[in-house]
Amino acid sequence: MIPNKIKFAYLAEKGNAKVTEMPMPELLDDEILVKQDACNICTTDYQQWQGLREHQGYPMAGGHEGAGTIVAKGSKVGATFEVGDCVSVIYDYCGYCDECKHGEVTGCENIKQFGKNYSDEFYGIFGFANYFIRKAKSFVKMSPDLAPSEAAFVEPLSSVIQNMKKLRIKSGTDTVVVIGGGTMGLLNAETARAFGARVIVSELMEKKIEIAESMGFEVVNPKKEDPVQRVKELTNGKGADIVIVAVGLTIANNQALEMVKPKDGKISMYAAGYPAPEMDVDPNKVHYMRLELIGTYGSTLEDFYDAAQMLNTGRVDVSKLVETHIPLDDIQKAFETASTPGNYRVSVTLD
Ligand SMILES: [Zn+2]
Ligand SMILES: [Zn+2]
Repeated sequence: MIPNKIKFAYLAEKGNAKVTEMPMPELLDDEILVKQDACNICTTDYQQWQGLREHQGYPMAGGHEGAGTIVAKGSKVGATFEVGDCVSVIYDYCGYCDECKHGEVTGCENIKQFGKNYSDEFYGIFGFANYFIRKAKSFVKMSPDLAPSEAAFVEPLSSVIQNMKKLRIKSGTDTVVVIGGGTMGLLNAETARAFGARVIVSELMEKKIEIAESMGFEVVNPKKEDPVQRVKELTNGKGADIVIVAVGLTIANNQALEMVKPKDGKISMYAAGYPAPEMDVDPNKVHYMRLELIGTYGSTLEDFYDAAQMLNTGRVDVSKLVETHIPLDDIQKAFETASTPGNYRVSVTLD
């Protein structure tokens, strides 16, 4: 039975998340109603709770890493989606702007028609909600064998896949160093390995080192050894073919410049940092080293689809990147846990 209300969490202000209800909207012909099982707390979500990213304003009904099961579909939704299918949420997009025409759906120029316009009262897309109604094009199908908290990795994995495509990994020969063993660092490491790279993770926190090692990665600990020296040793003096900087820190950026191989290396600036980190880049060095500095942000429609396939086939295993599950009613505790340094993804369960 479809209930007549949606229960959801929102940020009333910095540090104050609440749970409330709204009427269930009418299901349109091209839309799907999903009973959500989980929505993971992304860095952007908990940094907003911490008051570090307040530019969008309050009240904010955030959350965008959701997964669930289809309970109803509109009359014009084709056979691609059926009631009972497991799905994950991808970003809303118009499909007709210049960005969307290039598949760059996370840059959709008409995104304003979504977001705030879903509601006159709230920003955000109501991810931390037990039900979710969207156009059919805003979902991808997931394997029922995946836990909902793992299926919810489609969005973060899509941007990691975008990173891999930009890095053009040489399968079977490239060595990739990932600086930072947090959720996005290890997701990059896992995906780089799936793309055929040997992966070394640089991390100093004991808990993260253990997780990285349990996932089978070689680990360098800058607390105990000079990471640049160690990477050179592990690569027969050559240096890394690719360095992915997955922490927004000046020291990490500068280490990347030192540990990348002297010719034709690539550095991916994957993480943003607040306050903004620096990087001591000598343009002559970039020139002579033929160094590529690559920025990655956002994902294409194809990246979302590829992310779903990589999770569904088990080629990327995110099971160790889920820290814990916390019910929607304890949303404050969920944000607190997500904000605790060293914790991986916190999954909000939605009953
Ligand atoms: Zn996210
Ligand atoms: Zn668009």
